[in-house]
Amino acid sequence: MTSDYSDNHNTRILVADDDPRLMDALVRLLRNAGFDVTGANGGRAALHLLEVRRFDLVMLDLRMPEVSGFDVMDTLASGDHDSAVIVVSGEASFGTVSRALRRGAQDYIKKPFDPDELLTTVHNVLNKRFLEKSHADVQYRLQKSEELHRYIVNSSPDIVFMLDEDGHLCFVNSKVESMLGYRADEVIGRHFRDIVDEQDANRSSYVLKDPGISADNPRTFEVRLKTRGSRRANRHFEITAFPIDHDNWSFLPGGSRHSSYSRARFYGTARDVTERKEAEAFINFQAYHDLLTRLPNRSLFRDRLNLAIAQARRNKQQLAVMFLDLDRFKLVNDTLGHAMGDQLLQAVTQRLESCLRRGDTLSRFGGDEFTLLLPAINGSDDAKLIAKKLIKALKPPFQLGEHEVFVGVSIGIALYPGGGQSLDQLIQNADIAMYHVKARGKDGYSFFTDSMSTDTANRLSLERDLRQALERDELVVHYQPQVSALTGEVVGLEALVRWQHPERGLLFPGEFLQVAEETRLIAELSEKVLAIACKQMNVWLAEGHGNLRLAVNLSPMQVEHPRFVQDLMRQLERHRFPAKHLEIEITENVIMSDLEQISRKLLELSAHGVRIAIDDFGTGYSSLNYLHRLPIHTLKVDQSFVRGIRQGDDGACIVNAIIAMAHGLKLDIVAEGVETDAQLAYLRQLGCHQVQGFFYGRPLPADIISQQLLDRRRMTAAV
Ligand code: C2E
Ligand code: MG
Ligand code: MG
Repeated sequence: MTSDYSDNHNTRILVADDDPRLMDALVRLLRNAGFDVTGANGGRAALHLLEVRRFDLVMLDLRMPEVSGFDVMDTLASGDHDSAVIVVSGEASFGTVSRALRRGAQDYIKKPFDPDELLTTVHNVLNKRFLEKSHADVQYRLQKSEELHRYIVNSSPDIVFMLDEDGHLCFVNSKVESMLGYRADEVIGRHFRDIVDEQDANRSSYVLKDPGISADNPRTFEVRLKTRGSRRANRHFEITAFPIDHDNWSFLPGGSRHSSYSRARFYGTARDVTERKEAEAFINFQAYHDLLTRLPNRSLFRDRLNLAIAQARRNKQQLAVMFLDLDRFKLVNDTLGHAMGDQLLQAVTQRLESCLRRGDTLSRFGGDEFTLLLPAINGSDDAKLIAKKLIKALKPPFQLGEHEVFVGVSIGIALYPGGGQSLDQLIQNADIAMYHVKARGKDGYSFFTDSMSTDTANRLSLERDLRQALERDELVVHYQPQVSALTGEVVGLEALVRWQHPERGLLFPGEFLQVAEETRLIAELSEKVLAIACKQMNVWLAEGHGNLRLAVNLSPMQVEHPRFVQDLMRQLERHRFPAKHLEIEITENVIMSDLEQISRKLLELSAHGVRIAIDDFGTGYSSLNYLHRLPIHTLKVDQSFVRGIRQGDDGACIVNAIIAMAHGLKLDIVAEGVETDAQLAYLRQLGCHQVQGFFYGRPLPADIISQQLLDRRRMTAAV
């Protein structure tokens, strides 16, 4: 920067004097010095010129008619002129001079003037004016530059901060307010640690002590920062920090005005990465959890089981793996819709969880299947206790909107090490044990034993074969007589399904019914059985066996179906089968699952004339008080009790009790599984009306039964 304005040609001077002689002299003098000079004859002319042109300097006489030099100065001061003023006046009293200087004149020259002295004064004033202007200019640019940088710093999407040697904040941009809820002046002076979440407190100090960090090699770390005010939980920030490089920033040592910045030793930014962290956390959660129930999923379960097995092996302890499958869940899902199904799963989860301790892992394995890991148990009794608790917890009905639904649970249990050594073995064996519960009639628990090892591959091929069997009509029906204990007359025939398997020969229901239920082929299967049996029965009725009734077994799944009654009646109509010759056999568990629904259905059926029998009576969860509320015609005493007669154990007592009760309720009794004379005699003596069992005949194909019916009729006719 030059210290001189130096260019006279570009310097405009206005000379204002009412004395033309003096004005001319002055104009000439200044022109000779190289200035661009304009003369004004008096104050008014000066004002006029000032209005239209810009002047660097005004040489001003004070005493002028109309408009004085003071008036001109007043005008200069009020407008946006920036001309310097030198007063050239004949008056030199102290009062006048000081008044002129106060009005803004830079200097004062007394007339008559000395030309050299005047030119020196002009130079000095112009020089001073130039210096002032360039200073103002620098000042202005400095201010703009500072505004720009402040704008850049405050508009950063991140918090920008500086720390002193000890980690105290000595600068922070305004983002701290919008992001954390603190005003900048509240945090200045506080330690950085003070705004870091307690759980992350150590992380920050450790990084800043790292000697390896620099502006080129900054450190990045993630911490949670405390927020204040309405903001929700503490947010996650990615902090990048490094020591300030004083070769690039020479603010040190600071002046008093910026004393707090002057202590700055670290520069840092804090970027809000909460969204990213939350997304990561969610993805992580999703990878290991079921979103509907928020339970661990299959993978997490396997992880935990793996750990638990290793631990149990080390500590020579036992552990239990349970496989839980809900009973009747599919029915809810199919009839009430998926939304209700989802609600049910959530409610079930809650109840199951309430039975568990910390450390147990319940997971959703898929669909309506759950797995449960009980690490470190003392023995099978512990597992038994939990299984009972779980079953009990699901017993009360679930309220889904306006519907009340009942679900049960079948639980298979595999204990380590007895019931499996490896992860996959344990899960698979628990699964097998669960299927055994289902096969036995659901809603219960069972421990895996080696004898259960029905291989699963076999099940799959069975399912495939069963579909084919239905298409190729490989199903056949055998009939077992139900005989009057008094007369020996056949009063009924129970239809029992068989499968004439092309390779494996004749299969019994125990070998395929469960698969049929699970794959829901049961509906089709039942329809087939009913069709075959009705057709056959119609033949026998037509042949003159007019008192026979047909007993047909129904699966819980069929009965639970909402259109069960319509479907059954429609089938009877199609086969032109008289309803009063049909007796359906259902188990107690079906009734208990949803008493209200079932009783409505049974009433409807019995109104059509269909008889209803309770099969395997005495083995289920029976509540005797439902019996008189339902339209039941027959109780079928389970084989196990009849077998008890022979062995002379409690079975006999139970049979007594059942028969007595049936008499009280005026129900028919059919004793199943009668194999011996002794059993028959005993039952007869108790007043049991009807019996069924190998003693009278095994279930047999229709043609043989036809023959027997004929033979018997001939026999009775002969008698
Ligand atoms: P259930 O209804 O209790 O049928 C009686 C079972 O006991 C039959 O076995 C029969 O063969 C057997 N049994 C009859 N008398 C004696 C006896 O004196 N001693 C012994 N030890 N057993 C005897 P099956 O045919 O293997 O049927 C088993 C179960 O399969 C039936 O038990 C029934 O619940 C079910 N079932 C059979 N056919 C059908 C069907 O078409 N549909 C449905 N849903 N279930 C069926
Ligand atoms: Mg039966
Ligand atoms: Mg039975």
